[in-house]
Amino acid sequence: MNDVNKYPDEIECALLEGPISITDCSLTVDVCEGFLKKTVLRCEEVLAVPNWKEKCRGCKYHELEYV
Ligand code: SF4
Repeated sequence: MNDVNKYPDEIECALLEGPISITDCSLTVDVCEGFLKKTVLRCEEVLAVPNWKEKCRGCKYHELEYV
């Protein structure tokens, strides 16, 4: 199991090609997997990235567990 506390408050996002907060990453992952509506996104520009769901699922942070 991953421990979110091992990571800094911001990580490098494959979609934004820059930093993203752990919170925004978590929201994006949950929208990607259909657990939340996209209206919760605070960085909705990820939706404009071609194949964003596939890219997000391929990111090393996608399976991060938030405990
Ligand atoms: S899991 Fe998705 S939202 Fe989180 S850093 Fe990776 S690409 Fe970005």
